[in-house]
Amino acid sequence: MHIDIFTLFPGMFQGPFTESILKRAQERALLSIALHNIRDATTDKHHVVDDYPYGGGAGMVMKPEPIFRAIEAVYQGGPIIYLTPQGRVFNQQIAQELAQEERLTFLCGHYEGVDERVIEHLVTDEISIGDYVLTGGELAAMVVVDAVARLIPGVLTEGSAQEESHSSQMLEYPHYTRPPEFRGWRVPDILLSGHHENIARWRKKEALRRTRQRRPDLFARLDLSSKQDQKLLKELDAEEQG
Ligand code: SAM
Repeated sequence: MHIDIFTLFPGMFQGPFTESILKRAQERALLSIALHNIRDATTDKHHVVDDYPYGGGAGMVMKPEPIFRAIEAVYQGGPIIYLTPQGRVFNQQIAQELAQEERLTFLCGHYEGVDERVIEHLVTDEISIGDYVLTGGELAAMVVVDAVARLIPGVLTEGSAQEESHSSQMLEYPHYTRPPEFRGWRVPDILLSGHHENIARWRKKEALRRTRQRRPDLFARLDLSSKQDQKLLKELDAEEQG
């Protein structure tokens, strides 16, 4: 996958993109990320990228010309995504959808945002990372790129993305590692048993328990009509009542 990011602050991406899994994905050529400074696409002496809003009001608005020029100079297809608190709210399903693309383009706004003509005539998708307002789209782009990159085949160890919270519409079961006992707190015996079938059943039940407790909204959307799920639910009810 190739990702182009258009920003006024490319320096903000140092760190998140140069460490850990994103770093390795780039080294292994599974992912390439190009950062473009929108200011480089200005043509005036003072490299102006923003201006006062028509109609008055507080804050500045990012001008359309440098944004169009910057993106059109390198664009080779795929969605052009504007990060904005007004977009569809990002989730694992959207991450999976974007992970199918070969190329992604992200536009990070700043100040009051971008001139509406950019959204109407250049941008093809608008994504928000939550119902709050950030200073700029950079952190939001990092969040989306991180969530998408780890779904690119080969980036993570086989299987680890499939079982995670939200990939099955459920929260994930709890994890433990060595030592088997720490300060008197023991790892559940079943996880030490080596019995794969029982472990899988225990994990499913704990995932259901968590999802029901913490995210009743997700739980309500689950299809739990299978015999096994019905049995697990009965056991959970009995445990929680007892
Ligand atoms: N005036 C805009 C509004 O009310 O919709 C908010 C502008 S915000 C201060 C500046 C920039 O931060 C936005 O253009 C957008 O790129 C980014 N941004 C802010 N909150 C965001 C969010 N929740 N998700 C994604 N991007 C966000």
